[in-house]
Formats: sequence, structure tokens, C-alpha cells
Amino acid sequence: MKKSNRVNIITLGCSKNTVDSQKLMRQLEAGGYQVAAESADMADIVIINTCGFIHDAKEESIETIIRHAGEIKKEGRGRLFVMGCLVERYRRELMESLPEVDQWFGVNRPQEIITHLGLAYRNELTGERVVTGPKHYAYLKVSEGCDRTCAFCAIPDIRGRYTSIPMEVLLEEALFLAARGVKELILIAQDLTLYGTDIYGRQMLPELIRKLTAIESIEWIRLHYLYPSGFPMEILEMMQDNPKICRYIDIPIQHISDNVLRRMRREHDSAGTRRLLGEIRRMVPDAAVRTTVIAGHPGETEDDFRELLEFIGEYRFDRLGAFSYSHEDNTYAFLNYSDEIPERTKQKRVSQIMALQQQISAAGNATLEGKVMKVIVDRREGLFHIGRSQYDSPEVDQEILIRSRGDIKPGAFVDVKITGSTEFDLYAEEV
Ligand code: SF4
Repeated sequence: MKKSNRVNIITLGCSKNTVDSQKLMRQLEAGGYQVAAESADMADIVIINTCGFIHDAKEESIETIIRHAGEIKKEGRGRLFVMGCLVERYRRELMESLPEVDQWFGVNRPQEIITHLGLAYRNELTGERVVTGPKHYAYLKVSEGCDRTCAFCAIPDIRGRYTSIPMEVLLEEALFLAARGVKELILIAQDLTLYGTDIYGRQMLPELIRKLTAIESIEWIRLHYLYPSGFPMEILEMMQDNPKICRYIDIPIQHISDNVLRRMRREHDSAGTRRLLGEIRRMVPDAAVRTTVIAGHPGETEDDFRELLEFIGEYRFDRLGAFSYSHEDNTYAFLNYSDEIPERTKQKRVSQIMALQQQISAAGNATLEGKVMKVIVDRREGLFHIGRSQYDSPEVDQEILIRSRGDIKPGAFVDVKITGSTEFDLYAEEV
């Protein structure tokens, strides 16, 4: 195949990386490049947007770089750029061990890439991006970085201080997305609760949501990561009143034992967390509550772990992810604690949590049988259309396998009746 001015961007890690890549693609496109995501086609430039959050993510990023470097050099074509979180954390080490990479860029440096290619960075395109993947939902990154000081977390080190994106820029971006067919807007940030505090002097998430719900073609707004301390209670009232705000609360508690929360340097304690979660259930009883927890943090005793397990069994989160503690360079935990819990014990604890969660999830799903729900259709797979209700987020939660009478286009909303369930998925038919 003939060479051209093609750029292929490969994105690893979280949805924030996806947004960064899509915005970079828009700048490249405006500069005359043909851009593609995850393409197997020959490209002049391959850009890998890496993740460097925890051990497994770092490994995946390095393997991807090595694989592409090998292919590019074997064929004697193209240039390889690597950007993102891994570079921000380990630039020197990476440069020494992977000399075949042509250029390294950290996080939030699209201008550097554009300038490196001899193009002009266009500020007027800040609210625009190339939407890759499904066209009916999109992530809207409302801020960058994090000001909290959780002991185990490398994010503030990688992505810097909390920086809100001004509301008018977000509204412009939301309108851009809506005009391209996006119906579900997923607000993302390391910590949505703090949105606005740095630039407006107060929490502005409710105001932002109010403005976004006014966009007519946006039917669902979903919130990802509401930190427990400083949780904006007003959001719950808004959820009660406004059907556009998905009844979905993603609140990473990380643990419930005071001993571990203190060592994690979280800003919430056990009693406060229990109170808040109780209030969420009281105010929006049918909301799906999602959380993440970490097992095996330094200092977690058997009693602490039992307390966590009991709490999960008591509260019955609708969605839950459990991760084993990863001792990350330069974090407070890395510098001040030893990674004392054996990997085997960490894994065992994670398995115990997930086994319990499976039972909770299976029981919760069984209660939905016979109910009618509004779902958004994501795609078709064989005999089924695959969709989600407001209680499930794409890529991380369960799906609904729908038997329908005809073809349904991705992005369409339909009413379905739940006819069967497992711990992982629901079955339904169109009504
Ligand atoms: S809130 Fe804590 S865990 Fe979340 S990104 Fe900030 S420092 Fe990391």
C-alpha cells in the first residue's frame, strides 16, 4: 500500500484518554492528516496514548509500544510517537529502554505534538473532536487532575492539580456532540464533586448539569465518579425531578474500615460514608449505586477486610469493582508504608468480594424480571440487539440482550420487558 499522511491513534486506559485522543485527532485532521483510531492500515505516524495508573495497565502499555515499534521498524516505515500517563511518570526510563520510539509526549500536551509536526494548534477547535466508536454516547471530560491526596493514588502526580474546564467550553463541546448524534452524555472527571471550585470558587456541577439537560437531543446524562466527601446532595434532588439525569451514582468508597480509610488518607470516614450511602438510597431508592473498593491496602487487617465484606453484603451495591492494592512509585503509600500483604492474600480477598457481589447482582437482576424498562440500543449481535438501561454505563456495566421484531438502529431508545436474568446480564423482549 502506498504511504500517505495517515495517523493511527491507539488509545489505552480510561475514557479520559479516549477524549484526549479524539481531540488530538480533530487537530490533526484540521492540519490535513487522515486520522484513524486503532486501525490496522499502514500509517505514516502511529501514536500510542498510554495508561500508567497501575501495574497491569503499565504492562499493557509497554507491550503495545514494543509490538508497534517492532512492526514499524520491520517494515521500515513510519514514525512512532508515545504519549500519555505512562510517559508522564517514566519518561527517562522509557527513553533509555525504548530508543526505537521517535518521540515522547506527556499528558495534556496536544500542542506539543501538533507543533512537532509543523502544524498550528487551533484554539478554536477546543470543543471539537473526532468521535470514534459508537456515535450515540460520548464522554465529556469536565476537569483534569485531582487535588485529593489519597495515599495509594498516582493520578495527582500524573495529571496534576484539579483544573475545571470552563462551562462555556463544555457546553460548546456538548452541542458539537449532540449535533453529531450523541444522545447519552457521560460526564467524567477524577472527581466530579469538585467541578468549578477552582475557577468559580464553588461547586458548579449542579449548574453544569442543568445547562446540559437543556440541550434538547441529549436524552441521558450520566455521572462518573462522585467522591464521597463534599458529595453535592443537590444532585440527588435533581435526579428525583429530571428524567434526563440517569439514576446512576458512581461513588468510589475504596473501603469502609476507619483504620484503612485513615491510612488511605481519604477525606471520609466509615460513619460518614454509611450515612451518605443511606441518604442516597432514601432519596433515590431505585438509583443504581456503583462503587469500587481496594483489597490489600497496607495496614488492612483480617478484621478490616471482614468489615468491608460485611458492609458490601449489607448495603448491596448494584455494581461493584474490586481491585487488589498496587504499590505505585512515588505515591504516599509507596513512600510511607511497606506493601506488606502477600499478593496471594490480596487476590483471595478480591475473589471473596467478587463472589459475594455476584450473588448480590444475581439476586438484584432476578427482581427485575417482568419489569418494563427504557433502554438505549448499543449494537446488534447475532439474534440479539444489545442495550442498556439508565442503570448501566457502557463498557463497565451489564447489558440487556433484547429479542426484537425488527431491526433497531444503534442509539435508538426502546421499551423492553425483562424476561430473564443472570448475575452478569439481562434478557428482554421489545414491547
Ligand atoms: S480522589 Fe483520590 S483516588 Fe481519586 S484520583 Fe484523586 S487522589 Fe486518586
